[in-house]
Amino acid sequence: MTTPPTLPRPASLQFSDPGAPPAIRTEGLTRTFRVPGRGHEEVHALAGVSLALEAGSFTAIVGASGSGKSTFMQCVAGLDQPTSGSVHLLGQETSALGRGALARFRADNVGFIFQDDNLVTSLSARDNVALPGVLRRHRLPRRDVEAALERVGLAPKARRLPRELSGGERQRVAVARVLAARPPLVFADEPTASLDLVSGEQVLDWLRESSASGSTVLMVTHDAAAASRADEVLVMEAGRVSAHLPGGSAAEVSAAVLRTRGQSLPEGPAEETVAEARP
Ligand code: ADP
Ligand code: MG
Repeated sequence: MTTPPTLPRPASLQFSDPGAPPAIRTEGLTRTFRVPGRGHEEVHALAGVSLALEAGSFTAIVGASGSGKSTFMQCVAGLDQPTSGSVHLLGQETSALGRGALARFRADNVGFIFQDDNLVTSLSARDNVALPGVLRRHRLPRRDVEAALERVGLAPKARRLPRELSGGERQRVAVARVLAARPPLVFADEPTASLDLVSGEQVLDWLRESSASGSTVLMVTHDAAAASRADEVLVMEAGRVSAHLPGGSAAEVSAAVLRTRGQSLPEGPAEETVAEARP
């Protein structure tokens, strides 16, 4: 497998006014879970994450399973409450907002692509793509919805319900929703995990396209090859960001992850993903 060439960093430049606040900023973010049935035992899923991501950037957070990636994304996106620390999105302290205001902020500004559970089960593919407009109370132009379904190859299946689509197709509906609504922030948690190689590459192309058209894209993944498609790669280990790469090949990303775990990559063709490298 060859690593696709890194595309020039696109429209982000047009947004990276040095005086502009970062699109995503976290300060000392922690999240502690109680372990049920274990008295006072606690899991420190996030142990203090501070970072700033500029508008229009495409960043991957990579790390082994259990390193805290999903918890981080949930806390940043306001789907979970951090134990301490703060989150600023688009210059607003979202971690200080109440539930209603947070839900409105998400509806106006955030698009999600998850491994599963991307869609409203009672809505057709087309209505799922159009949903952000409904939530914002500002309908998306019909042609944008149709064009997005067309882009991901689902125009012929637009009337199907999620359960009538394959996992990969459901994933593409979620991508179409982001392409149609162009939210300022896109959060993707393991967006390629349930996809074959070709579909996974396509999803990564579309994420790049979103960032090129101005969205700030944050993706978390255990897959070094997927992470290597981002402009910047942060390595997460035990609830902390342990390394920062200005992009890099899949092999370089794998090596960085293994280094933070105190392991090293065996010699040979460097195609390992973090998943394969896990004990
Ligand atoms: P990743 O996405 O990197 O695989 P997670 O963020 O899902 O990791 O989990 C980080 C750690 O927090 C793991 O040890 C996990 O078991 C723990 N964890 C996550 N969610 C919960 C929860 N709701 N209750 C208890 N522990 C949790
Ligand atoms: Mg996860």
